[in-house]
Amino acid sequence: MSDPQEMCPKCKSPLGDIVETASGKKFQRCSKGSWNAQTKQKEGCDYIKWIAVEPKPLDEKCPKCGSTLVLQVTRFGKKMKKCSMGGWDKETKKPTGCDYIEWINGTTEPLPDKCPDCGKPLVLFTTSAGKRMIKCSTSGWDKTAKQATGCLYVQWLKHGEQVSTGTRDNPSG
Ligand SMILES: [Zn+2]
Ligand SMILES: [Zn+2]
Ligand SMILES: [Zn+2]
Repeated sequence: MSDPQEMCPKCKSPLGDIVETASGKKFQRCSKGSWNAQTKQKEGCDYIKWIAVEPKPLDEKCPKCGSTLVLQVTRFGKKMKKCSMGGWDKETKKPTGCDYIEWINGTTEPLPDKCPDCGKPLVLFTTSAGKRMIKCSTSGWDKTAKQATGCLYVQWLKHGEQVSTGTRDNPSG
């Protein structure tokens, strides 16, 4: 909670609560603005303030300089790991410090459940935009033929939907 009550630069009304999108981006909408679901149009003030997402320190070291890596989400919802020693010089428009960056294209976690189609293990796939789906571990993508290979079972998850990955610690056994 940094700014107690920020005002809209357009209409001088207070800004509303911080909203988080499915891809992890955060924004504040002007309290005089709202979304009309019936007309599918914005009503009132259309000011939106995007909030820079703080980079999260990771439990990984930079392969270049050994400093801590941080997880950063871009304005477009793409995720990347970058070196905490890296910066940006606005004067010279050049990166400063360590320039190590690794884009994250999605992560796969094994699931304890079996595919209802073929009985092979399922995996939880998170896209770079933060969307999640359960898919069959045998599924793949043939880059040459540009078509899916293996089992086609896919179940998209809604934002915030919980899934048991079976990776939790089980002290009693
Ligand atoms: Zn406004
Ligand atoms: Zn580095
Ligand atoms: Zn399958």
